[in-house]
Amino acid sequence: MSHVFPRHTKAKLPVASHGDGAYIVDSDGKRYLDACGGAAVSCLGHSDAAVTDAVRSQMDSIAFAHTGFFTSPPAEALAEKLIALAPGDLDRVYFVSGGSEAVEASLKLARQYFVEIGQPQRKHIIARWQSYHGNTLGALAAGGNRWRRAQFEPLLVDMAHIDPCFVYRGQEEGESEFDYGQRVANQLETEIQRLGVDSVAAFVAEPVVGATLGAVPAVEGYFKRIREICDQYGVLLILDEVMCGMGRTGTLFACDHDGVAPDILCIAKGLGAGYQPIGAMLCTGAIYDAIEQGSGLFQHGHTYIGHPAACAAGGAVLTRLIDDGLVERVTPLGEALHTRLEARFGQHPHVGDIRGRGLFRGLELVKDRETKTPFDPGHKLHAKVKQAAMNEGLMCYPMGGTLDGQRGDHILLAPPFILEDAQLDEITDKLDRAVTTALA
Ligand code: PMP
Repeated sequence: MSHVFPRHTKAKLPVASHGDGAYIVDSDGKRYLDACGGAAVSCLGHSDAAVTDAVRSQMDSIAFAHTGFFTSPPAEALAEKLIALAPGDLDRVYFVSGGSEAVEASLKLARQYFVEIGQPQRKHIIARWQSYHGNTLGALAAGGNRWRRAQFEPLLVDMAHIDPCFVYRGQEEGESEFDYGQRVANQLETEIQRLGVDSVAAFVAEPVVGATLGAVPAVEGYFKRIREICDQYGVLLILDEVMCGMGRTGTLFACDHDGVAPDILCIAKGLGAGYQPIGAMLCTGAIYDAIEQGSGLFQHGHTYIGHPAACAAGGAVLTRLIDDGLVERVTPLGEALHTRLEARFGQHPHVGDIRGRGLFRGLELVKDRETKTPFDPGHKLHAKVKQAAMNEGLMCYPMGGTLDGQRGDHILLAPPFILEDAQLDEITDKLDRAVTTALA
């Protein structure tokens, strides 16, 4: 019997033995092609020697030095590299251990910033429905997945939500994609006015929605309009790239594609690529300066912030992504994957949409392809596809279970950037069989 408290208490999980490139091998020797990076984490696959060497070498020097006492060479080097590559005026990096911590820190930094500059009434945070920002209580309150929120209502923090930019479900008859994007972006302005123009601290959004909708990018112009509204009302823009960042969509940061820079950026997952737990919050020099010239203390922290071994992993991952050109592989590989998915599922009676950017792709499974009616949530089709795929030796990330009755079941694909052409076929072949088995 296992004494590990698993996520799904009734699940019988295989035992991971070791990694081999894009594969995880279990204790029986069965190989699983990791087509989702666990949850968009493993961008380098599971046996990257450069990253393990960097971690090992850091562990040989020193594993941990509390940041209340020391900074460390790997943290300084990683921060410098990130800032050189980051969009806009992002100028400081706060290292944490994962995505929820990065989001939690960003919400608190936004609130504290306004206290420091003498606008303590700016307390509201606006987020979007159908988003995922993490499982800690602040990040959960920002998240817009009603199913995840339901058991914890009333949430500790009250946050306002607007609609996501989801053209597949939201566009009206005769409306252009651009006009649709502007219309939903303008909900932010309405919400700011409703809450009080000088009472909103920040708006938080994922540039490409991941864990709730399965790789939904915004339409062109949407984030530019969001940025304009934030600037007009003095609201900070927080972009959560925990899942879609670090090259996953073809540019190092997903917002590079939208031509928009945030005031605060959250990253994690691909930053450590699974070799170490690490996340980061980047902020502009203006925000940092306000804290430095004000109280001089960011009222937040965790024991493992700036962990040297984790930062060493992040530095080595960045070298692989940028210097070894792995990010450059993402757009062509992603397009090749999309072409194969279209060929296989484009006319499938139960596939409503195939979407995404780079190596971040989603399939929406629906009862009726024409009307896009989702399956009854009780069907748990996404979970059945996941299990059937595991039986085939394929990892894909299932999503479903929202309470608004509108969204169907989604399958997220986020394979490693080291993928080879033959493995693209292996993904589509195995996924095709898994979907057929799950629907049977
Ligand atoms: N934000 C986004 C966009 C995410 O996808 C996730 C994780 N799926 C998180 C935050 C939370 O990250 P973590 O699970 O590392 O706490």
